[in-house]
Amino acid sequence: MTTISPHPESRSLPHVPVVVVGAGPAGLTVGTLLRDAGIDCVVLETESRETVETRPRAGVLEEWAVRALERRGLAGRIVERAQAHTACEFRFGGEAYRFPYEELTGRHHYVYPQPLLVADLAREFVDVRGGDARFSVRDVELHDLETDRPSVSYTCSRTGQQRLLLCDFVVGADGAQGVSRAAIPEGAVRIARHDYGVGWLSLLVEAPPSSDCVVFGIHPNGFAGHMARSPEVTRYYLQCPPGDSPHHWTHTRVWHELRTRLEAAGRPPLTEGPLIEKRVLDLHDYVVEPMTYGRLFLAGDAAHLVAPIAAKGLNLALHDAFLLGDALAAYLTGGDGEGLDRYSETGLRRVWDYQEFSQWLSDVYHGTSGGDPFRAGTTLARLRRLFTSPAAAAAFAEQYLGTAAHY
Ligand code: FAD
Repeated sequence: MTTISPHPESRSLPHVPVVVVGAGPAGLTVGTLLRDAGIDCVVLETESRETVETRPRAGVLEEWAVRALERRGLAGRIVERAQAHTACEFRFGGEAYRFPYEELTGRHHYVYPQPLLVADLAREFVDVRGGDARFSVRDVELHDLETDRPSVSYTCSRTGQQRLLLCDFVVGADGAQGVSRAAIPEGAVRIARHDYGVGWLSLLVEAPPSSDCVVFGIHPNGFAGHMARSPEVTRYYLQCPPGDSPHHWTHTRVWHELRTRLEAAGRPPLTEGPLIEKRVLDLHDYVVEPMTYGRLFLAGDAAHLVAPIAAKGLNLALHDAFLLGDALAAYLTGGDGEGLDRYSETGLRRVWDYQEFSQWLSDVYHGTSGGDPFRAGTTLARLRRLFTSPAAAAAFAEQYLGTAAHY
């Protein structure tokens, strides 16, 4: 972090109560909650508005998150347009096992591509509420975070001029690759990391989904996943060695492995189509503790990364945003600072719970493919337990849906 010396003209520099770094789901949600409370904020984003509104990423929203958006008037389009998913399916040993979680719990997931959510949130913040979002900025830097007068500098892409915004709080919602986390001095927070030692080839396919639900293929060749994104586009995953190159995966090889790993009696063949995105993810997680440093409050992927194993990252980003937006609004409208004081502790309880579930699910996904017959045996026992023990099924459903009463 750079410390800039007090500027003689600092009194005349623009001041805004909150600067939000990053216009992803977390940053735009915090910004909107602040606008609704009558608090000015500026959202700074390095990409163009068009880019953030079209970047394909996650797509599974937990029902509690949609209800929380709904209570804040932010879920109109989701409720109209999202598909409700009521079940998931495990395929192993050549058989399909459907897990009907809505029947068990009365709860479902919403499938709504992240770019649509970001476009909705940008519309609510900028167009509906007149919020100040500055897209395509460069050279964002955070300053004086340990003081009660932090600031954020950036270069305006239109004029090329450097600007400085004085503020009371900085929200670091700039994702895994942003500058906010890096602005915290070494040793001021603890960063816990976990590497799964597994790669996933992440694919977007221009073809309709091949099932009405998420499908997990547990196969000796490795995991395969099928996740609907829209009627035209489907996300697939294939386990591969970490660090593998997407170039090793030709169209023919991809479809051969997907068919092999997802094959099950009584299920129709996959609907094939062109591969429109092909990337290798080395699965890993991290958690920053606490999620705060001085006047900087991290939210979403800036504070914690959870591998896409259980589709939790977007939901955690929204959870942070609700907690932080409400806490900042309460404090800045004259309330107490309790919400801000408890922000990190409260957010991290759900973060760690979701991280633990991702590890558990990773063991299930990858347990039959390592060539270790003992691990394969215990993995299949876990899977069978889900379909024979109501208690195990209830515990899985609660974690999969994120519905625990207390975190
Ligand atoms: P982000 O959505 O990353 O938003 C951060 C924003 O900050 C971005 O718009 C970025 O451009 C901006 N930014 C970055 N640096 C700066 C800077 N210096 N200054 C200003 N702005 C900056 N999860 C799943 O569950 N399933 C998936 O299939 C899945 N796929 C993913 C694919 C990709 C490529 C990525 C990156 C993530 C994926 N995720 C997936 C995770 C999920 O999308 C994230 O958990 C979610 O986007 C977190 O939201 P966020 O607002 O914290 O961060």
